[in-house]
Amino acid sequence: MNDAAPPLPEPSASVQTQGTDPFAAIRHATILMVDDDPVMLIAVEAFLDEVGYGSFVTTSEPRETLNLIAEHQPDVVLLDLMMPELNGFEVLSSIRATEEHRYLPVIVLSGESDPTARLRALELGATDFLTKPVDPSELQLRVRNTLAFKVYQDRLADYDPLSGLRNRRRFESDLRQTLGSLAPPADSCALLHIDLDRFKQVNDTLGYRIGDRLLKAAARRLEQIAHDVEAGLISAVNETDARVNVAHISGNGFAMVLSALRNPDNAERVTRAVIKGFSMPFSIDEHELFVTVSVGVALHPVDARDADALLEHAETAMYQAKSQGRGTHAFFSNDFNKRASERLSLESELRRAIEREELQLHYQPKVSLLTGRILGAEALIRWKHPTLGMVSPVRFIPIAEETGLIVDIGRWVMAQACLQLRRWKDSGLPPVSVSVNVSPAQFSRSSLLKDVKQLLGSTKIDPKTLVLEVTEGVLMSDIEAAVNLLKTVRAMGVRLSVDDFGTGYSSLAYLRRLPLDELKIDRSFVMGLPAEKDSLAIVRAVIAMAHALNLKVVAEGVELDAQLEVLRAAKCDEYQGYLCSKPVPPDDFAVLLERKGSRPRPSGYESGERPRF
Ligand code: C2E
Ligand code: MG
Ligand code: MG
Repeated sequence: MNDAAPPLPEPSASVQTQGTDPFAAIRHATILMVDDDPVMLIAVEAFLDEVGYGSFVTTSEPRETLNLIAEHQPDVVLLDLMMPELNGFEVLSSIRATEEHRYLPVIVLSGESDPTARLRALELGATDFLTKPVDPSELQLRVRNTLAFKVYQDRLADYDPLSGLRNRRRFESDLRQTLGSLAPPADSCALLHIDLDRFKQVNDTLGYRIGDRLLKAAARRLEQIAHDVEAGLISAVNETDARVNVAHISGNGFAMVLSALRNPDNAERVTRAVIKGFSMPFSIDEHELFVTVSVGVALHPVDARDADALLEHAETAMYQAKSQGRGTHAFFSNDFNKRASERLSLESELRRAIEREELQLHYQPKVSLLTGRILGAEALIRWKHPTLGMVSPVRFIPIAEETGLIVDIGRWVMAQACLQLRRWKDSGLPPVSVSVNVSPAQFSRSSLLKDVKQLLGSTKIDPKTLVLEVTEGVLMSDIEAAVNLLKTVRAMGVRLSVDDFGTGYSSLAYLRRLPLDELKIDRSFVMGLPAEKDSLAIVRAVIAMAHALNLKVVAEGVELDAQLEVLRAAKCDEYQGYLCSKPVPPDDFAVLLERKGSRPRPSGYESGERPRF
């Protein structure tokens, strides 16, 4: 079972929490006592036995101490100082000299008349001392307190203080133990590396306090899933013996180990359950946080036999899952390495793509819901790779962002879009605006302003016909900087749009502070229409609130007539989507525009009649 630390925590294999007595746990401790006087050994054992301690190892032979420690792994050592053959100081020094036992609690027993000896023992690293003749109550209390402190220390070393889950150190050592005890091929084991998506965004926009609470809540949710798997509550996962452990292994990373799996296919079912488990929002204060997870899965013994390699592979798979879009999972497999090297070559080819003229812009119509006319287009980049064919921006934009290539690519996109606007205007097509996606890296550079200004001057396009699309995250990460930049862009006459609204954590209250013109509802909400009640409620609310802030609303990814109806009823202004057209090359877009564009209506025409030129 997964174990969040109990109130008085679980410290080591030999000490376990029991019942409601807060000190019950420590009575399972193993106590080693070293004293040359056998009567003393019997007396101390009897005193401790009286209050419930039951696991003793005693010796009157000090030379045996280190061997006995190695063999019995005691939780505390009671050590007499005055022994004829080898005194307690020497024994203590030898215990402290070993790395492993540097912090093992040692209580020394010294004569009452001997304060300097006591001092010396403390200097050598004794944890506490007892005066001979031993008073039973004092003995019981000093042993109890020393053990309680050890429990605390063990907890610090093994558990993450925030989530209460095992930390990476403990997790790795448990994983090693688990793998060592498996009996493949009958038993297999799956390691899930679970990473909260966009956690940094939560921290950046809502503050680390909310971030911390989100981590805690995520930990509890993972524990619940682990419990459900063990209790057989996850459908189709029929693993009566499987054990599930959860740990907190990095800032926003968790791990789950499914051990003793009879059927490795169940790893995927559990992984899906984890992802589904994060489909419900977290309520933290007044915030409703939707957080997805990306999960990488590595299997033992197929992918790796040892703990380190398994951990590494699960992490690699997690990154692969992230790159496929968030809220999804990936399995590690050897051909993933192949894909990683493909990615590397993609990167170097992307560097040359601009000069080789392999990049193109396609245009997707933005359509008025009121008139059905095309009012604008979104410019979407395409890469025509000489051997791979069309490479999706979903695949190469992240690479461009990571490598900084996005700045050059973005500049190219902006220039092409402005030139295209000029050409369409010159060819007498109906007026149209063009929206350009602006990446975070471009947005944070002052060159963006310079480029836009220069392009407006050189192409002489109407600034109103250029729209910059930025995502919420960009706006939220540094709101002051965003306000200033946006104001300057707006002052040039260029319009501004918030892309993928609803996937980040911005609230409309924040957006009110920004000089925006338009808000695009993310496709994920439109997808659920018209059937999903939640999506419908969100879409309606967003439209109403955006209108209250004087923002135009565009719905992304409309594929069905039924979606269009609902959006129209909710008074959405425009839509984009396959229902009208996929993104198409400029010439094809010109044909669409010719047919469905919106000419300013010269007077004298009947309403709805198409003017001819
Ligand atoms: P986005 O800006 O949200 O663009 C909308 C995406 O949704 C486009 O994908 C579009 O083809 C797709 N889409 C539109 N209607 C539908 C529909 O009805 N159904 C479905 N399933 N999909 C629809 P695309 O072209 O693959 O672009 C993906 C993303 O790549 C864009 O999302 C944008 O974030 C990024 N991107 C594209 N071009 C550029 C660019 O020039 N610069 C930057 N920085 N990012 C770009
Ligand atoms: Mg966009
Ligand atoms: Mg979008």
